[in-house]
Amino acid sequence: KNLEKTYHSNEGVLKVIDIPFFEIKEGSQIALVGPSGSGKTTFLNIISGLVNPTKGEIVVDGVRVDLLKETQKDEFRSRRIGYIFQNFNLVNSLSAMENVMLPMMFSGLINKRQQQERAKELLGKVNLTHRMHHKPSTLSKGEQQRVAIARALANDAKIILADEPTGNIDYHTGMKVFNLLMDLCSKSNITLVMVTHSEEYKNKLPQIIDIRDINSAITYGEEGTLWES
Ligand code: ATP
Repeated sequence: KNLEKTYHSNEGVLKVIDIPFFEIKEGSQIALVGPSGSGKTTFLNIISGLVNPTKGEIVVDGVRVDLLKETQKDEFRSRRIGYIFQNFNLVNSLSAMENVMLPMMFSGLINKRQQQERAKELLGKVNLTHRMHHKPSTLSKGEQQRVAIARALANDAKIILADEPTGNIDYHTGMKVFNLLMDLCSKSNITLVMVTHSEEYKNKLPQIIDIRDINSAITYGEEGTLWES
């Protein structure tokens, strides 16, 4: 509500987000679309508490995220949100299984043995049981992305934020990863917000939101031209 995010840089002040009101219904799966630089990643980062809004309120699952202290944000994120980053953000020194265990280690709700069991189960869901002891650098892009999905599901998050989750993988692998994510979210009534540029994925998601329709911030368009929605 009344959400604003302004960045300050050498070029001056850039208002990226100006969203008077926007609501995402629990259990919905939406595609968040819009040109490059229109604030999609910034919006996901604000939802997850990774970036503080300059003004306004953000309420996720009943929690005022903008009012949380940094340590509370970590706990909030690890328990309620699964974030799938465009570049995976896996920890290279850890195995696939250890990467999936990370959010469970942060939230500290279950012991190590249970974390291992859960990580195995999740890696099974994404068909990676046979690769669970491998480090990310020895996995293919599609396998790395599936580890990232398993990690996002680790704490039974009710909300998954996915920033172009198939952006770095080939079409067929991307489609498999996408279908898997959709399947897991719809079966478990998980709210999914997926940033995507792909027409194919967009059309498979029940709802498409163009950020320009909710965001009245002036920002820069695809070719660096100024546009106003
Ligand atoms: P893309 O589709 O290319 O990933 P996007 O819609 O996700 O783009 P954002 O990454 O949210 O867009 O960026 C929105 C604008 O804010 C861009 O102009 C970007 O350069 C600027 N921006 C993002 N992060 C920062 C930052 N930390 N400092 C300054 N400007 C930033």
